[in-house]
Amino acid sequence: MVPDSDPPSLKDTDSLYQFFESSTKLVVLTGAGMSTECGIPDYRSPNGAYSTGFRPITHQEFVRSKRARRRYWARSYAGWRKFTAAQPSAAHYALASLEKAGRINFMITQNVDRLHHRAGSNPLEIHGTVYTVICIDCGYSFCRNLFQEELKALNPKWAAAIESLDHGNPGSDKSFGMKQRPDGDIEIDEKFWEEDYTIPTCQKCGGVLKPDVVFFGDNVPKDRADRAMEAARECDAFLVLGSALMTMSAYRLIKAAHESGAATAIVNIGVTRADDLVPLKINARLGEILPRVLHTGSLSIPAVR
Ligand SMILES: [Zn+2]
Repeated sequence: MVPDSDPPSLKDTDSLYQFFESSTKLVVLTGAGMSTECGIPDYRSPNGAYSTGFRPITHQEFVRSKRARRRYWARSYAGWRKFTAAQPSAAHYALASLEKAGRINFMITQNVDRLHHRAGSNPLEIHGTVYTVICIDCGYSFCRNLFQEELKALNPKWAAAIESLDHGNPGSDKSFGMKQRPDGDIEIDEKFWEEDYTIPTCQKCGGVLKPDVVFFGDNVPKDRADRAMEAARECDAFLVLGSALMTMSAYRLIKAAHESGAATAIVNIGVTRADDLVPLKINARLGEILPRVLHTGSLSIPAVR
């Protein structure tokens, strides 16, 4: 699930340490690379879903097609238990420690999995979160767990079938062809959702419910995009962790930081859209390099875990 990478060199660890040391107003942007180390797959890494032929649902498909929504919610329901069982990594905890020590001014994440929160951080979730469900007609939003319960109540036979499945490892006899997807979605045999499957509607207006995430083809809500952009323009250092910056909304942020004179750096396994822009690019596993930075030089930051 995590692309191969050599252990971080002393030079890389020291460069990243120096980056933290020399900044006074640091913004950190994290992406899928943070979560792959926790067993939540990545869309775009060398081993990611795009490389293995999977195409995530687009906003347009979700809004236009009831069939697409059924498929999405059926898979997502099936994958929820495993998705929520993923634990924050050493990288999540290291970032929370740096934040607590005042070394990070503002954190933005592209991840929708709440793993930063569970490690003790509170980042701006630029692509939203799967832990909230929102009505696309009236904007009413509520807790995903409640939605899961509603789905279960509306589809008891189906829910029981899913719960009796042993997910196993992808490809194993026990996996039933199911495979975990980056957004909590799971690949599942069509017969489970094609017939006799009901999706809850909005309790306020009867409208269409959607996870509160920005799907491909949709835009980041303006107030959220503005907050992130403001942070990028006002920082003196901008650090990208585990993102290839393929979405325009993320690339724009590091570009804006660069243009307003901030120092910039990227830690990511594999190429990113901003490799030509940044003076410091490190190929390393975040769970290895970030904890090492904590114990380098004068930082000596106590870990939160
Ligand atoms: Zn509604």
